[in-house]
Amino acid sequence: MAADSGSLLQTPETHVVLLPSSQMGHLTPMPRLAALLLAQNYCPLRLTLITAHPTVSLAESALISRFLSAYHDRVTHLQFHPFSIDPSTVNSTDPFWIQFEVIRCSAHLLTPLLSTLSPPASALIYDITQLNDDDVLPIPGINPPLRKSTIPPLLCVPNSLFSNIFIEDGPNLQKLAGVLIFTFEALEAEGPEAISGGSPPVFSVGPFVPCEFEKLPAHGDGDQCGGDPGQPQPFEWLNEQPDGSVVYVAFGSKTALSSEHIREVGDGLEKSRFRFLCVVKEKMVDSEEEGGEGNLVRIEGRGLVVRRWAEQGEILGHRAVGGFLSHSGWNSVVEAAWHGVRDLAWPQNGDQKVVAEVAEICGLGIWEKSWLWSGDREKKLVKGDEIAVKIKELMDSDSCEDRRSG
Ligand code: UDP
Ligand code: UDP
Repeated sequence: MAADSGSLLQTPETHVVLLPSSQMGHLTPMPRLAALLLAQNYCPLRLTLITAHPTVSLAESALISRFLSAYHDRVTHLQFHPFSIDPSTVNSTDPFWIQFEVIRCSAHLLTPLLSTLSPPASALIYDITQLNDDDVLPIPGINPPLRKSTIPPLLCVPNSLFSNIFIEDGPNLQKLAGVLIFTFEALEAEGPEAISGGSPPVFSVGPFVPCEFEKLPAHGDGDQCGGDPGQPQPFEWLNEQPDGSVVYVAFGSKTALSSEHIREVGDGLEKSRFRFLCVVKEKMVDSEEEGGEGNLVRIEGRGLVVRRWAEQGEILGHRAVGGFLSHSGWNSVVEAAWHGVRDLAWPQNGDQKVVAEVAEICGLGIWEKSWLWSGDREKKLVKGDEIAVKIKELMDSDSCEDRRSG
């Protein structure tokens, strides 16, 4: 968050500019924050959304479109075309992280764009990734301390795309007027508390609730993020299931699962004997997924497999959902917490072990630490039998029982 916070309240019309980076996990909170800002009556507000064009995934462009059409009279959209960079200079094959760096390297393109705004921008809100390596990393206020094995691996690699971002951008944090942290006290009180009282001020602003504009078009309309014309969302199936009886399985917006992984998860669900709704992604970028017939598969009697974008925020709020097997993406964990759905954490990448630990400490869920994540999985495939045991442990917990009994 940049700009002089003291001036915000004095301008007749506050002009907030939002600049999300790449991938759904980073994009999703921005329009939700925008919706909250637009709903307040504290001061007259104008809002501008700046996005890099084109986006990496269809899910990103679809969400941006839905947000803009919901607020067409109150939000101005500006696009910029970031410079391309030589992928070999970036230590990553992840298209979303390459885009993250591409946007960062094009930051100077924003100056002319911002100078055209009228009234001038009062604040620019953009997103950065929070940093969180024998085994303990003492950070004041974080108790118990983080274990080195939970740290996002790329942060431990000198000169990686990610460690460079932190080294280069970290010192600039002190120049900001404030930092908004997408978290909330009931989920993690200690971290924000430990960094409060300093400069710049930090504000916990979560959780954000899914908004109306995120809803996929009704049957027949379809849209770009894989919604097939004529196919129902999973709600019709969920509506037929008893309270708290369904395990919802999803690994976020960009975690591609190998066929072996999918097979063992399927076997685990089968052996657990619980009903399930399972979102499967086989490609990191949605436009590369094969659509069509196989998009929604009903497993006789007990389950539904969804191979396209699912309205997760709504699904987690459905009365039939009793537990969540997730990759511990931050948004997913916040959404589960919001709806009071217990989480079985299976971190796959990046900061997800740290998130799994936060969720475990605050009592939201359980985490089987012997389950290896993406990079290490070929060393030991987690078998369906083990998955079934943990799903039963998740679903037999008292809070899941409470959901079943209403
Ligand atoms: N999401 C969704 N439907 C999908 C896949 C993902 O609604 O089919 C949403 C999910 O609810 C969350 C976000 O996309 O808001 C994923 O963010 P998260 O931080 O959980 O994981 P990431 O995708 O960044 O790994
Ligand atoms: N990261 C990665 N591959 C890359 C670059 C980064 O796995 O090419 C990791 C990095 O270690 C960072 C994490 O991804 O800690 C990003 O976490 P964040 O919460 O920002 O994004 P998420 O994937 O949860 O949306």
